[in-house]
Amino acid sequence: MTKAKDVWVVAEHSADKIEDVTLEMIGEGRRLAQKLDQQTCVVLIGYQKPPPLQLLSSHGVDRLYLVDDPLLADYTTDAYASVLISLIKQQLPSIILFGATANGSVLASTISARMQIGLLSGCTALNINDAGILEATRPLYEDKIYSTAVFQASTFPRIATIKPGAIGVGKAELSGQTQVEEVHPHITAEDIRTKVIGYTQADPRTLDLAEADIIVAGGHGASTMSNWHLVEELADALGGAIAGSRMAMDDGWVTREQLIGQSGKTVKPALYVALGISGASQHTEGMKESERVIVINKERGAAVFKLANLSILADLTEVLPALIAKLGELRRSATDSENDSS
Ligand SMILES: Cc1cc2nc3c(=O)[nH]c(=O)nc-3n(C[C@H](O)[C@H](O)[C@H](O)COP(=O)(O)OP(=O)(O)OC[C@H]3O[C@@H](n4cnc5c(N)ncnc54)[C@H](O)[C@@H]3O)c2cc1C
Repeated sequence: MTKAKDVWVVAEHSADKIEDVTLEMIGEGRRLAQKLDQQTCVVLIGYQKPPPLQLLSSHGVDRLYLVDDPLLADYTTDAYASVLISLIKQQLPSIILFGATANGSVLASTISARMQIGLLSGCTALNINDAGILEATRPLYEDKIYSTAVFQASTFPRIATIKPGAIGVGKAELSGQTQVEEVHPHITAEDIRTKVIGYTQADPRTLDLAEADIIVAGGHGASTMSNWHLVEELADALGGAIAGSRMAMDDGWVTREQLIGQSGKTVKPALYVALGISGASQHTEGMKESERVIVINKERGAAVFKLANLSILADLTEVLPALIAKLGELRRSATDSENDSS
């Protein structure tokens, strides 16, 4: 009988915001914890991060391990892995979830290697099987097939990384209380071999779609008529990331990484602009949770209009150049008035 208990989620945060992937993992982790009759815990590492206790409790987090230290102000694998390994040894969780993000993937694999424990990476769903063991669904071969992998019965803790956007954020509707446990790490500056000297704003065009606030997606209506540059220009004007439908991918304008839908990514940006996309269910599956949707399509009956907050029934080739020019004008006058007032 193992002494390992509780399902942990290692929080991802930027500035003062908890990333959505953390909330997705909490939802999935809570489901697993309930099945195992264990607690759902979050580990928040950083420096002077106000713990978002209300948010965590409304998502059903039982316990927060708050690790606060000036040496943890910036993410470094050395410091974060060292803190986590000593906390894991002390508390013996049964399952630990990380985001399958740049930092989460490195951290999870470092801990797996140093502690010689198993890791399942890039999972899209988790389950406790009839034998009480964690099993994970993982897409393979560019998402063409899904595999189910299971941990060996005797290894603990079990580590998995979760693809952002794969599970979706659950509703914040619970009313429990999150207990806070402050953790005082034993790290020194000499333990950290890297030094963060600054951050550079990512190019929105190449931003991971799961993290983009604005997405401009083109479909067959944009990709067939050598008009794709209009999709790119609109994305630039709005500061958005570029995505596409399956037809746009087949036409060679977007990569599989930029494909939205059943065989691609699930996104929920603040704004999704659908250009020349018909609205097949396999596509809308991946974007229907977007906060606002603008649709431009020349066919009145296009199904995608059903999801639109703003519908523009028009030919892309007519409306996009005017829209891009107007956005450029607005940007220039905003810059001029900023310059005048400084
Ligand atoms: C198992 C399976 C999985 C799939 N997975 C996905 C997936 O993950 N993602 C995905 O997107 N698809 C997926 N598909 C394909 C999906 O069924 C549709 O075929 C695809 O989404 C259609 O792409 P589209 O809307 O760009 O093209 P179309 O269906 O061809 O629609 C083009 C639209 O552009 C409009 N249009 C044309 N010219 C203009 C113009 N000049 N101005 C304005 N509007 C114009 C048309 O009115 C039309 O509505 C999958 C299919 C299967 C069977």
